[in-house]
Amino acid sequence: MSEIRKVAVIGSGIMGSGIAAHLANGGFEVWLYDIVPSTLTEQEQAQGLTLKSAEVRNRLPLSAIAQLVKQKPAPLYDVSFSARIHAANMEDDGELLHEMDWIVEAVVERLDIKQQVFSWIDQHRRQGSLVSTNTSGLSAAVMIQHSSKEMRQHFAVTHFFNPPRYMALVELVATEETLPEVIEVLTRLCQQRLGKGVVQAKDTPNFIANRIGTYGMLVTLKETLQHGLTIDEADALTGPVMGRPKTATYRMLDLVGLDTLLHVVDNVHSRSEDEAERAAFTRPALLEQLVKQGALGQKSGAGFYRKLKGSDGSSYIESLQFDTMTYAPSTKPTSPVIEAAKQAKGAKGKVEALIGAVPEHPHAQFAWKTIKATLLYAAERVGEIAEHIADIDKAMRLGFNWELGPFELWDSLGLAAVAERMKAEGDQLPAWVEAWIADGNESFYKRERGNTFYVHQQRYVLQEQEEGVIELARIKEEKGTVWSNREASLIDLGDEVLALEFHSKSNAIGSDILSAIRYACHETTRNWRGLVIANEGKNFCVGANLMLLLMEAMNEEWDEVEDIIMLFQQSMLQLKRLSRPVVAAPHRMTLGGGVEACLPADIIVASPETYFGLVETGVGLIPAGGGSKEAAILAMQRAAYGAGPSGRVERKLLAGDLQPHLNSLFESIALAKTSTSGFEIARLGYARPQDRVLLRGESRIYEAKQAVLRLDAAGYVPPEEELVAVAGREGKAVMKLAIQNMKLGGYISEHDEKIATKLAHVLSGGDVPSGALVSEQYLLQLECEAFLSLCGEPKTQQRMSHMLRYGKPLRN
Ligand code: NAD
Repeated sequence: MSEIRKVAVIGSGIMGSGIAAHLANGGFEVWLYDIVPSTLTEQEQAQGLTLKSAEVRNRLPLSAIAQLVKQKPAPLYDVSFSARIHAANMEDDGELLHEMDWIVEAVVERLDIKQQVFSWIDQHRRQGSLVSTNTSGLSAAVMIQHSSKEMRQHFAVTHFFNPPRYMALVELVATEETLPEVIEVLTRLCQQRLGKGVVQAKDTPNFIANRIGTYGMLVTLKETLQHGLTIDEADALTGPVMGRPKTATYRMLDLVGLDTLLHVVDNVHSRSEDEAERAAFTRPALLEQLVKQGALGQKSGAGFYRKLKGSDGSSYIESLQFDTMTYAPSTKPTSPVIEAAKQAKGAKGKVEALIGAVPEHPHAQFAWKTIKATLLYAAERVGEIAEHIADIDKAMRLGFNWELGPFELWDSLGLAAVAERMKAEGDQLPAWVEAWIADGNESFYKRERGNTFYVHQQRYVLQEQEEGVIELARIKEEKGTVWSNREASLIDLGDEVLALEFHSKSNAIGSDILSAIRYACHETTRNWRGLVIANEGKNFCVGANLMLLLMEAMNEEWDEVEDIIMLFQQSMLQLKRLSRPVVAAPHRMTLGGGVEACLPADIIVASPETYFGLVETGVGLIPAGGGSKEAAILAMQRAAYGAGPSGRVERKLLAGDLQPHLNSLFESIALAKTSTSGFEIARLGYARPQDRVLLRGESRIYEAKQAVLRLDAAGYVPPEEELVAVAGREGKAVMKLAIQNMKLGGYISEHDEKIATKLAHVLSGGDVPSGALVSEQYLLQLECEAFLSLCGEPKTQQRMSHMLRYGKPLRN
């Protein structure tokens, strides 16, 4: 696998460019190919370019690469990674293919064109190189039937989902001729370098996720019409209340494009031999009509929904009315069924409420019918589209963002109960499900001492644990916790390494997490080789729990507020001074207090998808759990990095050395900047030389544990307390000038100015000369004072309550 360095992507459209970007994220050198344009654009003519100019010949990939840097959400972990992508074209750069270790085809979904492209690849590639296609569902075997045997043996489908960086699924499909080692290498590449969840699909129309997902959408359309529901109602019922994404059904169809959907539908219809399936995959008249009218979804401005601008300039949404085929303002439907499901917790609870709270309600009937049809359809496809149910469930979770795959959902509703209801309603169960239930089995999956088993060919088989992944949930189930309170647990990771897991609401840091940190320090010192701070929540930590703080501030309980801050500061300091190594493994949102819980760690091992930042100014505060102090230290260390004969930080720093580093950290904190990836943490100034970013987020706990073991084996000595060289009055003056400019330019409010000035005061070490040496305790004291004074500000309190109520910052 290490030999795979150079990758060619053929086709620089939506998927080709997105895949190229994600390959660049994974550290590969990528050549992005496309066809040579046959005519010049006006701009090219004006520039005096000809059809022979390289800029023209590479126009498509060059403009795709330029787009990658601008696109939102960003396809690249860091804009600089675009330098790893090179433009190439299919007429001039055929020979270059010979150097490629892996060639990914991502041209238009047309068999004839794909076959031409593969014959061109076959002419130029080196023997032994990997070749894959990103087809959505064409037959892999047919696509390469005219290629050489050697290429056919090295060929597979690598089906990425859009957008490739963010969608976690890759469906891998082998043909009968694909060598097993090709699938092994591609699986490892996709998992370890690209951070993807891989499933093995069979060479059948649309593979796993699109096959079941499209069926689900067709059924939803049919049932919407039969139950006389509106689009708004159907979307309200098939989104989060069904454990599925907000885009639900019709919003999702508009995103995908109704014309694209018809292609996918036709692909099954023309290739399936099952009459019932062919009937289900017949083009719905309504869809055909919309496509004929040019209502293709978002890309054409209208589909099931359309977005319009009112006379006051604000936009609003209209939805299609089936009876008149005209648009009317979209509504937020409600019913006892929807309300019951909204109140319920988790996908299982929600679906139970959806179908069981008021079972005779048309909404409940509709929900049950769509779910039932999808469960049955998935069960009928086992063995055909995938070897086993676990890959089908995983494909639906990762490819369609369903909380539970069909078999997981069926289990959660009760295997036998669902089967009974189906039979009572005259449905026929697949023979294997009947036999499985008749054998006395109560579920498709079973958990035993931390292991999962799933049904495969009428017996339970063990779900293999992936190499390099530690799952806290699994350990807890098997061995329980070492210690636990309401908000956090200590978990034994094996090899005498302890993990501290947060599990409060949104993983916000409250008093129980602070107690847990202090207890973890005590416990680790006595009995463990080191500590990992990590969790499996949706986000690592969204910051400190504001609720408590706001209440104390509103009641003017200043002593209480001070106690909270000091407890926070001392807990973080205890982590920093721990006599054993500490490694933090953040993922996704890691904000405010979450960052402050990472900075005391010896090493931060961040997931690629980590959105990291000290964002306290957004709620009218400054970081005061040691975050501002650590920023001052980071600036000093960066200024002194590599200086001093002993490698230690030089104590006599000039303010001039310190200032640029301080300015950039000041800007990150004052503007509450958040990294858009783990790699961008360094751009904000928070990364230390020893910190790392992983390519596979799932392995963060494993990697953090390894880092603890390495530090311990090397004879860990905790960092000594050092004095901090600060920028002092002069440094503060520079930052204040920047604040004034921002204020004059109208970029910040008066309250922002006040907060930023306090931040500048703390970061520069207060009222001391430039280059003064101060203690960490002194900086913590400054943090605390600034924080307390801001808490008393009405505008800060407004910001806090706005954040608590709406989850968004208020600009006041
Ligand atoms: P696209 O239309 O955005 O891009 C297609 C690319 O193919 C263009 O760059 C075009 O210049 C190039 N091309 C056209 N004719 C060619 C030829 N004769 N030789 C070489 N290149 C040629 O399409 P896309 O959405 O990126 O889809 C590409 C592939 O990915 C398709 O097989 C599609 O089914 C699959 N796919 C798409 C999605 C999606 O959501 N868009 C998701 C998964 C898979």
